[in-house]
Amino acid sequence: MFGSFQIASIAGIPIRVHVLFVVLVAGLALVPDAGFLQLAILAMLVVSVVLHELGHALVARRFGIRVVDITLWPLGGLARLSSIPESSGVEAAIAIAGPLVNLFLALAAAPVVVAGFFLGAREAWVGEAAFAFVAVNVLMAGFNLLPAFPTDGGRLVRAWFARSRSWLDATVLAVRVGRAMALLLAVTGVVWGQWMLPVVALWLWWTGGLELTQVRARAAAARLEGLGARAPDPAVRA
Ligand SMILES: [Zn+2]
Repeated sequence: MFGSFQIASIAGIPIRVHVLFVVLVAGLALVPDAGFLQLAILAMLVVSVVLHELGHALVARRFGIRVVDITLWPLGGLARLSSIPESSGVEAAIAIAGPLVNLFLALAAAPVVVAGFFLGAREAWVGEAAFAFVAVNVLMAGFNLLPAFPTDGGRLVRAWFARSRSWLDATVLAVRVGRAMALLLAVTGVVWGQWMLPVVALWLWWTGGLELTQVRARAAAARLEGLGARAPDPAVRA
């Protein structure tokens, strides 16, 4: 991704950050009245995003897909895969892995939240930080599971449609459902005065269309190759 640089490597996967992400995090960290808890939440958010993407990446690797890198940018993380498998089983497994990591992290931190109730006032921050960690991860899982293709939930919707349809038809339907969801998000954002939601909705609308164009191009190429015959089965299939 243009304007990004590598900061680490986990399990042989380069972790990169985009300049805009650095600006956003620095901006949030340097807010004059940012307390310890706010900074801790910011750090937890970054760690949770990386682990979410690692979930996708490691499951993809199990299916023999090369993971190019993971990039953090203002709207979250992106795991770039060398190929996109046109298989509902593989797609569903890779898509669900990210939100599952978040739910696992939330469950793992839940006992600390409970323990926080029994700590004295001086150690109350432990419970508060754990609660924030649980909240961050539940929200991250929830947002990503929205059926707003190309979110993880949207990919699950496509995988579901692809069980009985061509990959292209399944993508068309998933994008349609995704755009309805994006519209709902945008309207909700306007009603609530949350300006980030229409931005995210626009992003989902645009990237969904972009991926549909790619699937269309691959389907057209496959048709040409088959000289009008049935498109060949994709190489990766669960
Ligand atoms: Zn994800």
